Amino acid sequence: MSQDYYELLGVRRDANAEDIKKAYRKLARTLHPDVNPDPETHERFKEITRAYEVLSDPKKREVYDLGGDPLGAAGPGGAGFGPGFSFTDIMDAFFGQATQRGPRPRRRRGQDALLRLTIDLAEAVFGAVREIQVDTAVVCGSCGGEGAAPGTRPTTCPACEGRGEVNSVQRSFLGNVMTSRPCSRCQGFGTVIPNPCPECAGEGRVQTRKTLSIRIPAGVDDGTRIQLAGQGEVGPGGGPAGDLYIEVEVAPHEVWNRRGNDLHCSVTLPMTAAALGTTISLDTLEGEAHELDIKPGTQSGERVVVAGRGVPHLSSTGRGDLVVHVVVETPSKLDAAQRELLSELARLRGEEKARGQFASPRRGVFSRIREAWTDRA
Ligand SMILES: [Zn+2]
Ligand SMILES: [Zn+2]
Repeated sequence: MSQDYYELLGVRRDANAEDIKKAYRKLARTLHPDVNPDPETHERFKEITRAYEVLSDPKKREVYDLGGDPLGAAGPGGAGFGPGFSFTDIMDAFFGQATQRGPRPRRRRGQDALLRLTIDLAEAVFGAVREIQVDTAVVCGSCGGEGAAPGTRPTTCPACEGRGEVNSVQRSFLGNVMTSRPCSRCQGFGTVIPNPCPECAGEGRVQTRKTLSIRIPAGVDDGTRIQLAGQGEVGPGGGPAGDLYIEVEVAPHEVWNRRGNDLHCSVTLPMTAAALGTTISLDTLEGEAHELDIKPGTQSGERVVVAGRGVPHLSSTGRGDLVVHVVVETPSKLDAAQRELLSELARLRGEEKARGQFASPRRGVFSRIREAWTDRA
């Protein structure tokens, strides 16, 4: 061995594989015979390539570190690269990627599809079954996905003999090298279809409109995606179908407003009812009436909660709540008798000359109003 491989590449003896690759790449660029055609440089390029061949292979590197000659006959003065070290490996060192080999399959998986579906709030809360129509691709019934006209078959590509790629010899800085590229005759499939199926023009799939029945689970929300495995389009060559995703959009409801798993609504009450207490009838999303007690002395902005009657949890048991926001209406347009009665009430309560008081921001009516506003935000 004329020269130390580590010195040739300018790396330490404990350099890792990445450092060795980097060092070789850097040197190879300056010593490239196309860049620098003088014969001495060419020799040096061969030397560093030999050094890289040994140090980039853990087994050969081990032999070398123990004082052996892993290149044997192909070593110094030899004709080029030893067995097991292909041009592809060197190209990998340069371009950092492995080249893919062999014919590519005609049969490939279909793409996933996304469909938006608008449902109403009750459907989102309780679940539903909806029929939808989708334009998609299915396996061609005429050729069964193979793409060949009935009674015929795809044949081996005569241009590449089924390899899907063609080789050509090119002169390069390493001498004559073989490069391969996808076969243009068969587009890399390795087979050709002499008589394409008239139904699908050789695609193996046809466009169609399908009707699907979709089960929408209870508790879905705006933006929830439902995955229907295998309901997307069939792939080229009759390949497996992709998935269909349904993205749910929930239309706004005129009464109920969803926040998480709770359903909120606002109810207006006359001042007298709020003061005396009453029972109101709430139309729930279930379509039934719920009798709700309003206790005497209820303030505007107060919330009355009906536990467990909201939206079912999508991935567990239980339901959210109904939250009723009370808005107390002050009577306007009083006739003489009503004004008389209210004045009498004010007198009885000592409120004829009420001047108002600052409400504490922490409690009382102001904080309830603030809560109501915060809820609405
Ligand atoms: Zn067909
Ligand atoms: Zn071909």
